[in-house]
Order: sequence, then structure tokens, then C-alpha cells
Amino acid sequence: MVSFSFSEEQEDFRSMLRNFSMNELLPHYTTWDREHTHPRHLWEKLGELGVNGLRVPEQFGGSAADCVTTGIAAEEIGRGDFNLTYAVMLNALVSEIINNHATEQLKQTWLPQIASGESIVGIAITEPSAGTDAAGIRSTAVKKGGHYVINGEKSGISVATIGDAFIVFAKTDIHSGSKGISAFVIPTELDGVECRGYDDMGNVPIGRGSLYLSDVHVPEENLIGLENNGFIQVMNGFDLSRLLIGLQCVGAALQSIDETIEHVKTRHAFGKPLAKFQGVSFPIVTHSTQLELIKWQAYRGLWLRDQDLKHSGEASSVKWLGPKYSQEAIHECMLLNGHYAYTKEMPLEQRLRDVIGLEIGDGTAQVNQLVIARDLFGKEFRPY
Ligand SMILES: Cc1cc2nc3c(=O)[nH]c(=O)nc-3n(C[C@H](O)[C@H](O)[C@H](O)COP(=O)(O)OP(=O)(O)OC[C@H]3O[C@@H](n4cnc5c(N)ncnc54)[C@H](O)[C@@H]3O)c2cc1C
Repeated sequence: MVSFSFSEEQEDFRSMLRNFSMNELLPHYTTWDREHTHPRHLWEKLGELGVNGLRVPEQFGGSAADCVTTGIAAEEIGRGDFNLTYAVMLNALVSEIINNHATEQLKQTWLPQIASGESIVGIAITEPSAGTDAAGIRSTAVKKGGHYVINGEKSGISVATIGDAFIVFAKTDIHSGSKGISAFVIPTELDGVECRGYDDMGNVPIGRGSLYLSDVHVPEENLIGLENNGFIQVMNGFDLSRLLIGLQCVGAALQSIDETIEHVKTRHAFGKPLAKFQGVSFPIVTHSTQLELIKWQAYRGLWLRDQDLKHSGEASSVKWLGPKYSQEAIHECMLLNGHYAYTKEMPLEQRLRDVIGLEIGDGTAQVNQLVIARDLFGKEFRPY
């Protein structure tokens, strides 16, 4: 049997979040960007609404929701405030890694704080010399007594300026590529951790930046899972975050389409509403159709994940085309709203800047096409 409907519970959750997103998030979306501030109170409010703990088990304060429900949250929050969708995507990714691989003690320490919104935990893989080629990282973790001593530099990291801790990837075996990488929970309060923000084009309230790690002594209990297994552990998590990123971008784009449809129905030119001109309606039709296709591919991928079925190809297709189609749609909406949409009075220019960031973050178009090519041609035809 094939069913394309959401459950009643999922529809109720969507409608609760739609109301919250439209009434509490959208009116302030541009404020945090203009003021260069992070609305921590809203991150915490999302914790109260159950958004931060969707992928956290109930015993640790979460709701243990399925991935499809988590996707609904990404799409709906994306409509109101694109940057707050990190509370869905990042929390889901980080909670899954901790819950699936960390010790009981780490779970008890971090999962309740993540679910409530009290703590923000980021993920730090990228380095100045290794982004797409993540196995090429150079940070090192050397075991000494009951600690690992960690040195290195992480770059491009979301929540760098606002995070309370990071899941940091470092080499525990410098000779072994992806099989020599381990993951650690590193609280930013530890000696030797320094975080510096960037002056970014978009995603401003998310405080992206670099982490500098100098002789950071991390207790061995903070190792996540097995030594040298960090890379394998996180790769599976990316299949989730890529699907959620697709939906957060699609949410922002669908909101822009809805706003633009209203505009072209009421704005007149040459004696008629703009919507009557096919030069105006057809581009909206094109983008709306592309976004619907991506949306359903994303929910399909999330459903496959819920069934424990393979979904890497679906995740990569959504991560590749979701941000791309969304930025194209938002760009078109900006043009169809005329000169006023080019000002900072309207949210469209910011949505465009914000969504473009996630054409890069969590893997570019090319790396996602490499994943799809591997599925189509087989592992033996990988270029590396
Ligand atoms: C908004 C945002 C948020 C981010 N958040 C985080 C985060 O929280 N944590 C984190 O660790 N990182 C984060 N990043 C970093 C991000 O994951 C990397 O920027 C990304 O993986 C690309 O790496 P790079 O920038 O080093 O580019 P490079 O790897 O140098 O790539 C440059 C270009 O070359 C292309 N390229 C590389 N290799 C190939 C190949 N084999 N075939 C074809 N083309 C190729 C790439 O697609 C790209 O277009 C974030 C980035 C952004 C923009």
C-alpha cells in the first residue's frame, strides 16, 4: 500500500507550528539579522514546543518523534525564520549522534539540555584545508592518561559564537584517513578553546565562525563511540540533516511564493492584476512545481529512514536541489515584487542570502552528486 498522507497527529503538529511560525517568528525574522543578534529566547521557546528534542528519547526529555515529523518542523519553522531551523536540523543531527554512539553519561549530560534549548551544541568537522574532503582533516587528538589532548583549527562552523559545546572531529590515527578519525564532545568552557565569528553574507544570527583548539584536555569519557569510528558515525547523520536542510529551504521558498501570489493578485499594471499575465504566473508555476517535487522527495527520504531503509541517494538529491531550487524561487519572487523587495523592509533579500549558505553548508552540489553517482555506477567508479 502507498500512502502520501500525514497522520492526524502530524497534521496537528504542523498546524501548531505554522501558527507559531507566522505569528511569533516571521514578524521578527529580519530583526536578528539587522541587529546581528541571536534570539536565544526563541531557541528556548522552540525547546518548550518540543522542536529541539524531536530526535531525543523521552527518557532524556525529548519526544522521540519520527523523522517525517522532524521534517514537518524544518519546513514550518523555515517559513517563519530560516535561521531558527537550525534548532531542528542541528539538534536532530547532534542528538542522533550522541544518542546512537555516546556513553550513558554523555547522553544524560547533554540530551536533556539540547531538548530543552538550554544548551546549543554544534558540530565541527570542516578545517581551513579540508571541507569537501572531510577525511583530510588535520586536527589531532592524542591520548594522555585519562584525557585526550586536542589541537587544531575548525572553520566555517555554525553556532561557533553561541554554542555551549561542539562535537569535534580529530585524527586519533594520522596515518589512516577516514578510519583514523574520532569524535569528542568539547564544551567551550574548557581551557584552550577559542571561538571567533565571521561577518557572513547570510545566516547571520547563527554566528558561524572558527574554533581554535590549543592543547585542550578533554576527558576520555567525552569520546563518542569507538576510537577511529567518528567518520562512519557522522556520515549516517548527514543523510538526516541533508533531508531536513532541503525542507527548511523549501519552507522559506514556499512562504516567499505564497507572499508573492498575494502580491501579484493585488498589484495592478496595464489595468489588470499582475497575476493575469502569464509572464508573471508561469515563473511562479515553475518554481512552485519544482519545490513540490523536492518536498515530496524529502518526505520520502525521511520515511525511508524511519523504516531503516537505504536513503543516501534521496538525501543527496534533496540537499543538492532543495537549496538550489529554493534560492532560484526566492530570487524570482524578489523580482516579481518589484523594487520594494530589493530593500531591507521586506524579508525576501534576507531569505535569498540565508538559503544560499546552505548550498554550501553540509555538502555542496558536487559532493552530493558524487554520492548519487556512487549509487548509480557502483563504489568502484568513485573518483577517489
Ligand atoms: C552556512 C554554512 C554553515 C556551515 N556549517 C558547518 C558546520 O556547522 N560544521 C562544519 O563542520 N562545517 C560547516 N560548514 C562548512 C561546509 O561544510 C564546507 O564549507 C563544505 O563542506 C565545503 O568545504 P569547503 O568550503 O572547504 O570547500 P572545498 O572543499 O574547498 O570545495 C570548493 C569547491 O570545490 C568543489 N569540489 C571539491 N571537491 C570536489 C570534487 N571531488 N569534485 C567536484 N567538485 C569538488 C566543491 O563542491 C566546491 O564547489 C558550513 C558552511 C556554510 C556555508
